[in-house]
Amino acid sequence: MLYQRTIDREYTTDVLVVGSGSAGATAAITAAQGGCRVLLVERYGFMGGTSTQVLDTFYGFYTPGQVAHKVVGGVPDQVVERLMTRGRALMRPNTYGAGQGITYDPQTLKIVWEELAVAAGVRLLYHTTVIDTIMHDTQVLGVVAINKSGIVRINARIIIDASGDADVAVRAGAPYEGGDDGSALQSLTTTFQMINVDDAQARRVNKTQLHALMADAIARGYDLPRKEGSVHITPFDGVMVTNMTRVAHVNALDIEALTAAEIEGRRQAERYAQFLIDYVPGYQRAVLNQLSHQIGVRETRRIIGAYQLTRDDVINARDAADSIARCGAPIEDHHGGSDTTWHYLADGATYAIPFRCLIPQEITGVLVIGRCLSASHDAHASVRSMGQCMAMGQAAGVAATMAHDQHVAPHQVDVLAVQKAITRLGGIV
Ligand SMILES: Cc1cc2nc3c(=O)[nH]c(=O)nc-3n(C[C@H](O)[C@H](O)[C@H](O)COP(=O)(O)OP(=O)(O)OC[C@H]3O[C@@H](n4cnc5c(N)ncnc54)[C@H](O)[C@@H]3O)c2cc1C
Repeated sequence: MLYQRTIDREYTTDVLVVGSGSAGATAAITAAQGGCRVLLVERYGFMGGTSTQVLDTFYGFYTPGQVAHKVVGGVPDQVVERLMTRGRALMRPNTYGAGQGITYDPQTLKIVWEELAVAAGVRLLYHTTVIDTIMHDTQVLGVVAINKSGIVRINARIIIDASGDADVAVRAGAPYEGGDDGSALQSLTTTFQMINVDDAQARRVNKTQLHALMADAIARGYDLPRKEGSVHITPFDGVMVTNMTRVAHVNALDIEALTAAEIEGRRQAERYAQFLIDYVPGYQRAVLNQLSHQIGVRETRRIIGAYQLTRDDVINARDAADSIARCGAPIEDHHGGSDTTWHYLADGATYAIPFRCLIPQEITGVLVIGRCLSASHDAHASVRSMGQCMAMGQAAGVAATMAHDQHVAPHQVDVLAVQKAITRLGGIV
């Protein structure tokens, strides 16, 4: 009732996507390309989420190991193609364990996401944060959001929660784990960019040498909490990007803890930059140029869905009859210690991401995708790469389109038909 009295603007749409990260952006584009009216709500003023706020390399498109098998395709390929056509992406060799990556310019990616969304007919609402849900019993009928225009009500038949934190599903009453329940969470990282790097020299420093230099610097009193981490090439001469800082034991849903983490992440970035300049060949004239838009948050809430992906499923490369995407990425756990643990699947193996992992319990009308899908902590540490988030987004976009066309709830769609439609788009199930 409070909201009914104070609503400043109201929207009605077939499909509402909350959050425009790799998962939400791909879901919105896919559903709009499928013919639905789609509204995409994003709290920042650009698309991409972590893909443009923090990072510059898509992992998960290929399996790691001897031969890189492609396991993600379809709408995600449209994103990569547009980056490649502009000369703003490159295939990066497997130097740090996660398989072959696709390194891109995040500023160009912001434009590419928008270009695809606008061309598909997605209606975008930036600077808008979803704060509540509108319910009828267990059915989610819409959301309440806030922005500079005031309180906004959005009515939707189908909602795709791609907020990364399961904001919609949890507000509606879906069970979850992680985030604020006290369980172990992956650490946070502020990424940063160095310019004026002597590429030729810097490229000759391999991972083992970098980590040895780091150990030496730490022994001489440098304050570097993570004793490994990576620095990598970009599409631009003289520009390198890092994944080095570590802020551990933070519940990123606690706003005071997140604020402290932002400050600590930037403090560490300056120290790691100084280490590169002082110790690593090629960085002597380099300067710290850019910090990530916000600190990178790897893990908060994960819903407990109709099925929870497990460590066993990952390590044993388990298949599923309702597979909507595949993953061959290792379990990569950025735990609170000074290193990162890696557990690999057999060379070239992949496991299924079941459709049931996108279906929250106890509520209807919502699919949950991206890093807040239903997965255990360990399985999540494998399945969270941007390639898989895009593949989940594609699957949710397809399922939402079918649910809309057939006037059924998204969890009621025929999974076989969803799989066929994903395959027709070029996706891999
Ligand atoms: C430091 C770090 C390094 C990583 N390295 C890699 C890597 O090299 N390669 C790789 O493939 N993956 C990497 N990952 C993992 C990967 O980036 C993420 O798992 C993935 O990007 C998550 O995508 P998403 O769409 O689920 O969520 P996000 O990208 O987090 O997107 C969520 C979106 O929702 C918006 N939002 C949130 N709440 C609301 C709300 N209430 N209302 C409106 N909007 C909202 C956010 O602003 C954001 O745009 C890394 C992650 C981190 C943090």
